[in-house]
Formats: sequence, structure tokens, C-alpha cells
Amino acid sequence: MSLKPDDPCGGFQQAKVVAFINEKMAEHVKGPEFYFENILLSWEEVEDKLKAILEDKEMPRQAKEACTWGCLALGMRFAYRQGQLQGRRVQWLNDCARLHRSAAQALASDLRELTAHREMERKEAAFKLHMVQNNLAQAQRERDLYDSNLWSAVGYQGIDPQQLQRDRREPDPHHQRRPPVFHSPGDWECPWCKAVNFAQREVCFFCRRAIWLQSL
Ligand SMILES: [Zn+2]
Repeated sequence: MSLKPDDPCGGFQQAKVVAFINEKMAEHVKGPEFYFENILLSWEEVEDKLKAILEDKEMPRQAKEACTWGCLALGMRFAYRQGQLQGRRVQWLNDCARLHRSAAQALASDLRELTAHREMERKEAAFKLHMVQNNLAQAQRERDLYDSNLWSAVGYQGIDPQQLQRDRREPDPHHQRRPPVFHSPGDWECPWCKAVNFAQREVCFFCRRAIWLQSL
């Protein structure tokens, strides 16, 4: 018996079909020989071998028929093997697709995190810039107040402010024109030294007297 009824690789499912093909193959000794000799070849090679047998004028007709049945059995076996291979390829492709999907999801998640991080950094930088601008504006105001207080103090110590005004009008390259000073509401003038202080100061920045001392 060439074909085994319980061989899953044979490609047949019906025992009666297997029995009939075995019977036809066994009508000549060449039939089973053809089946076993070529069991590992590809379909193209099997067909070429059958063609050579059919063209052989010395070969009896019964041998040719038996080999043709053997060729049919090999064809079924080949189809089953191809089906198994295709199934494995489909499985492999599905696994690849699943891997690619999860990689794409991970990338999208990374991209979202990166974008959020960039946005946070941008906001932080904008906040720092805002603070620096505020500090700079405050420093400019303090400098202007300091200039103003300095002029007042000079006048207080006996130098004629009108003389200083006249000096300032002289074209002296060492003197620069000062910007006008604007006082904010709440700024206070020290009664001791006449320096103008910011509202939030509790001690005169110029003479260092505390504000509570000054109200005594
Ligand atoms: Zn003072």
C-alpha cells in the first residue's frame, strides 16, 4: 500500500478514495516505485518525470497508467504541503502586523510625551523671560529714584541746586541727561534726608532710618 489512509500529509481525507488510488497504482510495479522515488521532489520535477515515462515507447501502457495515478497522489501531497506553508506565512505576517501596530502605538505615545514636554519648557522659558523683564523694569525705576534722591541729597548738604542746574546745562561730556522720574502711588519721601522710597520699603534706603522712627 503506497498511500496510508491515516497519513495527514497525503492530502486525502476519504479512505475509499485512498484505497481506489492505491489499487490503481498497484496495477503495475512502476506505480508504487514512481510514488516513493519522487516523494520529496517539487511538482514541476514530478511532472517532467511523468512526461518522460509517457513519451517512452518501450514502456507498457499499464505502467504508464500506474505512474499517472502515482503522479496524482504526489500532486495531492504537494498541494497539502503548500497549504501548510501558506498557513505558516499568513501566521508570520499576522505576527509582524501585530508587532508593527504596537511599535506604532509606542511611537505615538512617545511623540505625545515629547510634545507635552516641549510645551512645558516653552511656558517655563516664557515665564522666566517675563520675570527678567519685570526685574529689569524694577531696577530701572530704582535707579531713577536713586538718581533723584542723590540730587536731592546734594542740595540738602548745602550745594546750590541752581548751580547744579546751570552745570548740567554746560556741554560737559561727563554728564549725561537723566530721564524724568515718575513716582508711583504709595512711594514716600524720607523726612530726614528727603530721599524718595518705594512703598514697600520700611527703612529709608539712603539714610537707613526706619519708617516707624520717622513718625515719632
Ligand atoms: Zn532718609
